[in-house]
Amino acid sequence: MCLTCDATRRGFLRLGLGAAGLAALPRRSIAAGLKPLIMLDPGHGGHDPGAIAPDGFYEKTITLATALELHQALLETRRYRVGMTRSSDTFISLEGRVNIALEHKADMFLSMHCDHLPEPDLRGASVFTLSNKASDKLAAAVAQDENSADGPTGAPAGVSPQVANILASLETRATKIGSATLADDIASSFSARIPLLPDPKRSANFAVLRDPSIPSTLLEMGCLSNAEDERRLRDPRQRRLLVARLADAIDSYFSDPGQGRVAG
Ligand SMILES: [Zn+2]
Repeated sequence: MCLTCDATRRGFLRLGLGAAGLAALPRRSIAAGLKPLIMLDPGHGGHDPGAIAPDGFYEKTITLATALELHQALLETRRYRVGMTRSSDTFISLEGRVNIALEHKADMFLSMHCDHLPEPDLRGASVFTLSNKASDKLAAAVAQDENSADGPTGAPAGVSPQVANILASLETRATKIGSATLADDIASSFSARIPLLPDPKRSANFAVLRDPSIPSTLLEMGCLSNAEDERRLRDPRQRRLLVARLADAIDSYFSDPGQGRVAG
């Protein structure tokens, strides 16, 4: 059973993003004279708690709290429009999350999560971009965990690995560059201020990063399997620092001439 491939396939089919669909992709807000629209995606929710800390604390609670705080911080800059795939403790499928970003013609998609790693000593944030091939075994395992939110669905009938690869290759070069730039900006902004895993920039095949038109990054804000990280993520003052560093990274991203300057 390959949940990753199945989520990828179903995501593309639902969105109608075959080769012909690429021509109809939404134009960037910046080119239309609008403030950039950032879509924040707090991972999990509702019946899906995500990772669970040893003391029973849920990932879905941290992701929502942090996303709400980042939403507020970004709005206060008056430089962005900001949406959220969920703003309460509700379940939204992975495809549903991508659909919301597409429907609103988002210029950036930031999926927010917490890790749960097999070694409790490992701690720190990491940032993922999309790749058919995981950067390492740990990255592949993280993607499998995060992709399982839509439930066990079995291997997709009638879709060969070759077709799955063709679908995956539709991601545009510009989107890849945008996603990598955002990951770099987050890692740089966190550096020396927010704990990072030893190899913090990684890639894997995440279903929520599959849209070929929107630069997308999945952030693991820390490890709930590590007691120190859990304390950091649950501490409102520490979260304020995390939110400030994320807002700084987003400013850097949109200040990059390659991504278009923020007006006003
Ligand atoms: Zn997660």
